[in-house]
Amino acid sequence: MVKAVVGANWGDEGKGKITDMMARDADIIVRFQGGANAGHTIVNNYGKFALHTLPSGVFYSHTTSVIGNGVALNIPLLIKEIRSITDRNVPMPKILVSDRAQMVMPYHILFDEYEEERLGGKSFGSTKSGIAPFYSDKYAKIGFQVSELFEEALLKEKTARICEIKNVTLEHLYHKPLLNPEDLLHTLRGYRDMIEPFVCDVSLYLDRALKEGRTILLEGQLGTLKDPDHGIYPMVTSSSTLAAYGAIGAGIPPYEIREIVTVCKAYSSAVGAGAFVSEIFGEEADELRRRGGDGGEFGATTGRPRRMGWFDCVASKYGCRLQGTTDVAFTVLDVLGYLDEIPVCVGYEIDGSVTADFPVTARLEKAKPVLEKLPGWKSDIRGIRRYEELPENCRKYVEFIEQMIGYPITMVSNGPGREDIIYRKSPLK
Ligand code: GDP
Repeated sequence: MVKAVVGANWGDEGKGKITDMMARDADIIVRFQGGANAGHTIVNNYGKFALHTLPSGVFYSHTTSVIGNGVALNIPLLIKEIRSITDRNVPMPKILVSDRAQMVMPYHILFDEYEEERLGGKSFGSTKSGIAPFYSDKYAKIGFQVSELFEEALLKEKTARICEIKNVTLEHLYHKPLLNPEDLLHTLRGYRDMIEPFVCDVSLYLDRALKEGRTILLEGQLGTLKDPDHGIYPMVTSSSTLAAYGAIGAGIPPYEIREIVTVCKAYSSAVGAGAFVSEIFGEEADELRRRGGDGGEFGATTGRPRRMGWFDCVASKYGCRLQGTTDVAFTVLDVLGYLDEIPVCVGYEIDGSVTADFPVTARLEKAKPVLEKLPGWKSDIRGIRRYEELPENCRKYVEFIEQMIGYPITMVSNGPGREDIIYRKSPLK
């Protein structure tokens, strides 16, 4: 049985917390896309952690953490991250890395920096983790698979060939120092030694696990609106953020994914550039940012202040639809307890007419939010464990949003901890 935990919006919806919570009843947790460019924040009995590459199941001793073939694998960062948790008394997790995963190379990070520099003010707001150059190379068929680290002759020939290609751009477009194939080969030998203990034929391992009846959790990074096909292209990430891609990025049959938990935050936040229709500014945004998440809405990887906005029903309905949502986990609801009234974006006005269907990017840029105000509940809902015990206006907020997005909200998260969760029976399920 496979379950996926994915994001409906721009990322940072609280997937890490939901995955960490659901991992209690899972055997294997798999990262299937993305890289170290985004982070998950997890609060548990060991403390507060920001994970970038490791799946959010690493804190349990009964789970195996898998880096699937779809991930952009930064080997030194992975090793550093493992050390950062074991240094804080978390037992060494069981980690497997797909032999088909491709590696983020040192020059991918450089190319990311150089390109942002070249674009100046028109940049994509990259985290400069090398993700876009990495995936470009993967699909241009000049990427390096983990398995290739163990083929010395191939590695030697390929590093020389790739340096030749990269050096043309470095010299003529970026005017930067050239790559040396010998140095690169040396770095890759180091990567080989670091990763060797974890390398595995992951799709075969997962096939066996499924036959033995194990529960596998797929952990997505970012959200629908950052998907290269269905998101706000080109202000997207470079790998698919959809649950469907979990089948490819982990190497399992698509029909095995039975449960798709789409995480939606009770308000909106986004990092990086791109249209954000329900965005708010000034003091209103500052206050929500300060109170948001667990200690403020600032990027887990970059520390950048996140852009803030009200809940967007148009974007979230679309986000849930593209994920193939079976359950919505509605998070950080506790944060909204300070508001007298809570605006919700229920439609987009584009060229004089109102729509509830999420448009393509060029039309999205022209959209203005149609807001509806719901009454606040003006109280602290942390610690509540039963849905019926939530204040009436709080339940009305949840139920209004459920009706607007059309997908069942079966979990409500009212705090950052594993136990801060309210299960709910939804009329839509
Ligand atoms: P992810 O990338 O989707 O995992 O999201 P992030 O980890 O970047 O952001 C979610 C933030 O909200 C983290 O700091 C979490 O600890 C925190 N968080 C998650 N769920 C809740 C919740 O229900 N209430 C509060 N107050 N914080 C939460």
